[in-house]
Amino acid sequence: MTDTTPRLRAALDGIPTYKPGKRDAAGGPVSYKLSSNENPYPPLPGVLESVTGAAASFNRYPDMACTGLMEALAARFGVPAAHLATGTGSVGVAQQLLQATAGPGDEVIYAWRSFEAYPIITQVSGATSVRVPLTEGEEHDLDAMADAVTERTRLIFVCNPNNPTGVAIPRADLERFLDRVPRDVLVVLDEAYREFVRDDRVVDGLELYRDRPNVCVLRTFSKAYGLAGLRVGFAVAHEPVAAALRKTAVPFGVSQLAQDAAVASLGSEEALLERVEALVAERARVSRELVAQGWTVPESQANFVWLRLGDRTADFAAACEQAGVVIRPFPGEGVRVTVGEQEANDLFLRTAEGFRKEL
Ligand SMILES: *Cc1c(COP(=O)(O)O)cnc(C)c1O
Repeated sequence: MTDTTPRLRAALDGIPTYKPGKRDAAGGPVSYKLSSNENPYPPLPGVLESVTGAAASFNRYPDMACTGLMEALAARFGVPAAHLATGTGSVGVAQQLLQATAGPGDEVIYAWRSFEAYPIITQVSGATSVRVPLTEGEEHDLDAMADAVTERTRLIFVCNPNNPTGVAIPRADLERFLDRVPRDVLVVLDEAYREFVRDDRVVDGLELYRDRPNVCVLRTFSKAYGLAGLRVGFAVAHEPVAAALRKTAVPFGVSQLAQDAAVASLGSEEALLERVEALVAERARVSRELVAQGWTVPESQANFVWLRLGDRTADFAAACEQAGVVIRPFPGEGVRVTVGEQEANDLFLRTAEGFRKEL
């Protein structure tokens, strides 16, 4: 009996592990991290102060209801507090949504390639992933996704703009898709990069959720707001979805530091959104220069760009690392490169140009 181990759920067998973006380029003179879509700017002084203030009382549990943050979010986005739910990053909220909707025998649809957390959290729930390939143009194939709905479908992730390709969905296409999805299937609009969208044809999910009770919008403080390390995100959804999220929340999951920093960030939005504007300008510059070098670059509405490199992916990532830039390779498919500080983007562009010439 000594070799007997605790019985674990078979659903966990073969789960892909989440691959965090590499932190450092090994051994080089410089190292820029363009692998995790983080905000390259350090915290704003006011936001940092709110966190150091909250740190003085971390012997206490946080406000479990996130009262201050809920009020600030309700005011900022013009939604009832009853339609809001917070969690440990929007990945945490996505996992709660699965817990609330899906289990063994159920199906979860998402585009592929898309956010790498979807297959992991779906498999943990026991439900089955149904992956619908992106189109040639790196877009969600929404017609095929609607066709994939069965009576077992419980949840559909729509990543808009899509991670890792950066491509966003025009309003008309998304509305047509939502019209086709049965009302008892939850559609999760993952808008982690919403603040970086500049294309007017891309609809804000908060407009769509209002008269569609089966639509849930996910947002995060990790990207544009620069709070990735504090783990706070939120969902906007009608009852009973929002209520289900409160039931599936880990008690006291969102720390007081995170809550206070999120409230302070909403209060400093103007300064934060100036930084987002600078990153959007850098995105345009990086995309333009890559195109001038001869690369095919899908139009990104997020804080990263995508290069479909196929079997040259690993070599490209190695060349970048050697130059001191860590990017995110998806072996055999392509690379996702975060738009970072100007020096980092310059170094990346020079490396990409050198690689191109060698081809
Ligand atoms: C980064 C990201 C998130 C947010 O992650 P957090 O858990 O909030 O840090 C959610 N969805 C997508 C598609 C992302 O890229």
